Amino acid sequence: MYDSWEKVSHLNREELRELQNNKVRWFFSHKLPYSPFYREYFKKHNLKFSDIRTTDDLQKIPLMSKTDIAPTAEDPGRPRQFILQPDEKLIKKYATKTELLKVIKMKVTKENVQAMLEKEYKPLHLHFTTGRTALPTPFAYSAYDLAMLRQSAYRAFNVAGFSSDNVGLNAFPYSPHLGFWIVYYGLLEAGVTALATGGGKVMGTQKIMDSIERLKVNVLAIIPGYSYHLLREAVKQHRDFSNIKYIIFGAERVSSAFREKVKELLKQVGANEVQILASYASTEAKTAWIQCAEYTGYHLYPDLEFVELVDAQGQRVTEGQPGEIVYTTLDWRGTVVVRYRTGDMAQGIEYDACPNCGRTVPRILPDIQRNSDVKEFNLTKIKGEQVNLNNVFPIMSSIAGVDEWQLVIRKKNNDQFDLDEIVVSASPKAGTNFPQLADDIKKRMHAEMQVGVVVEQKTTEELITSLGMETELKEKRILDNRPKS
Ligand SMILES: [Zn+2]
Repeated sequence: MYDSWEKVSHLNREELRELQNNKVRWFFSHKLPYSPFYREYFKKHNLKFSDIRTTDDLQKIPLMSKTDIAPTAEDPGRPRQFILQPDEKLIKKYATKTELLKVIKMKVTKENVQAMLEKEYKPLHLHFTTGRTALPTPFAYSAYDLAMLRQSAYRAFNVAGFSSDNVGLNAFPYSPHLGFWIVYYGLLEAGVTALATGGGKVMGTQKIMDSIERLKVNVLAIIPGYSYHLLREAVKQHRDFSNIKYIIFGAERVSSAFREKVKELLKQVGANEVQILASYASTEAKTAWIQCAEYTGYHLYPDLEFVELVDAQGQRVTEGQPGEIVYTTLDWRGTVVVRYRTGDMAQGIEYDACPNCGRTVPRILPDIQRNSDVKEFNLTKIKGEQVNLNNVFPIMSSIAGVDEWQLVIRKKNNDQFDLDEIVVSASPKAGTNFPQLADDIKKRMHAEMQVGVVVEQKTTEELITSLGMETELKEKRILDNRPKS
């Protein structure tokens, strides 16, 4: 079980290394062997679980990614192979001595061994990954994991650092995805009075705005794209959001230009001093990590996971260098993954004490190139050229005259044999000259992404509808409407 967060978050470098090596040894020798997939995987790669004794040893394990775990048409049951499933034979072989003695003792005294095992291992709660290229993959939580989810939510909200006299509002969409649940548990653990709205699709934007006013909400946890929509509506209706002190963002990348835009709107509804804290999460890691201040990295939980960065060849980078985030669980049950490539690119991991809060846990630097919406589009071929669509977000957020926007990739003249075409639909802010704005967008997209775009004028209302702000769980910011080849 997890250690005390207060203790873990203040260990020195040497103590952290020892803690993680102990966890690696324990997890790989006594827990991971209960996964049918990893028993096969280790055999296939001529590895023994007992070979993995330190975080450095993890490099012996070949990396894996989404395509290794997602169900396929031929193998729809594949995700089940990643769930820890001990049976009597496996327990005899892999359990620690203490666990084994406990089981034997329980058998003698005729206690319910099965019930004990179920509490630790039986899948009770599911989250799904979102994806366009792969089928959604379920990630199972046992009762043990739900306690861990709650503990890690406590940690995240402890890092965010607000006191229990705040009032919270959870505007994450109610769904079998991590966001809603971690905020739900985080607010409970922080001991604040809170309303779990289920998001715009469940409760509706009007009622959410009413609640923010009436409950005098201080902590608003919300998806960035939806926050922008909600705040713009609030400005239009002259709402009073002056009690908001914290915004907790998740699920999407937050650029500094976007933060500024949100702050500008917040000021117009009376919220002048707001800290916007972004978080980073992954379904596969089963939890989320957060900033303690706007400029700091995402504070990791080193007793629950090991996070490393790798280069394009899959080699671990030297400390401080950028690379792809690779995740290894050190203490979860249910569905577990090790040496898992997230597809998210980080600028580096910091290991010195945090300059803001003094915690010594490693921190992933804040500017992660990711957006779960466009993950599969990250490098999309347009007219045969690789284009990194992640760059669209900071570009569009930094153009001051843009109120709302959507990008669509389609075939010219709706002819599948014609050229690819990128269309940016944008609505101008009041007082903005549209032809000038369209020109700005074209120039910026050309200069920073080397692509030509067509710019179309739409009203903000039209874009809200086509983005699915009020009807979809996730807004459709970037759409690829080309026929599948
Ligand atoms: Zn900190």
